[in-house]
Amino acid sequence: MKTITFPDGRTLTYELVRKRVRNINFCPKENGIIMVSASPRASVREIEDFIVRRADFFFKAFAALEERQKLGEDSISSVTWLGQEFPVRIISSSRECAVIDESEVRVFTRLGNESEYILSLIGKARYARFCALAEELNGIVRSELSSRGFDPPPTKITVKDMKSRWGSCSYTRGHISLNIRLSAYPRNTVLSVLWHEYAHYWHHDHSGRFYDFLLKMYPEYRKWNDLLKK
Ligand SMILES: [Zn+2]
Repeated sequence: MKTITFPDGRTLTYELVRKRVRNINFCPKENGIIMVSASPRASVREIEDFIVRRADFFFKAFAALEERQKLGEDSISSVTWLGQEFPVRIISSSRECAVIDESEVRVFTRLGNESEYILSLIGKARYARFCALAEELNGIVRSELSSRGFDPPPTKITVKDMKSRWGSCSYTRGHISLNIRLSAYPRNTVLSVLWHEYAHYWHHDHSGRFYDFLLKMYPEYRKWNDLLKK
């Protein structure tokens, strides 16, 4: 292992391995060392000249590696989506977005961004996916109601961050809100909240008749809704 010191005090360390390769190959490693493989004919001077000429490239590469390690340590390693832990994978990219797919969350971002910013990218993806889910479940509830002879009024669904409620229904305006925090719970739990809010169109309170109606419409209501009490 040898270290080259630059006039400004910075250093680059390399480890030389002689191999039957045509050229000289350089690879900056996570431990801050440049691995060099060179043919027995390449001189040390030739190798070091190359490193000095490409010094800026190596310093940048090491800074990016260090940044990536830092990012891995204090950033989000997983998020909860529909009741399951999804690992978060950070992919170095000039795009700035997150994608929640079937098994993981992929975050495309420039390296070196703070975890708060990464959370905001995930938050946007979560909101978009949850709005789509809310629309899908809304269709399920409405067709179930119709098939049982109940005519649900036109309803606008909005997704919001609410402090103290999982959902709300303003039955006079035909407006149901779902809490974005429901996106951490299973799909059927979200469905149970939607059924609860729809039931308020027919029963405005939480009386026995309200629950009779709700359980008739969605018999698994308690099983899934009770998860929210924990
Ligand atoms: Zn209620």
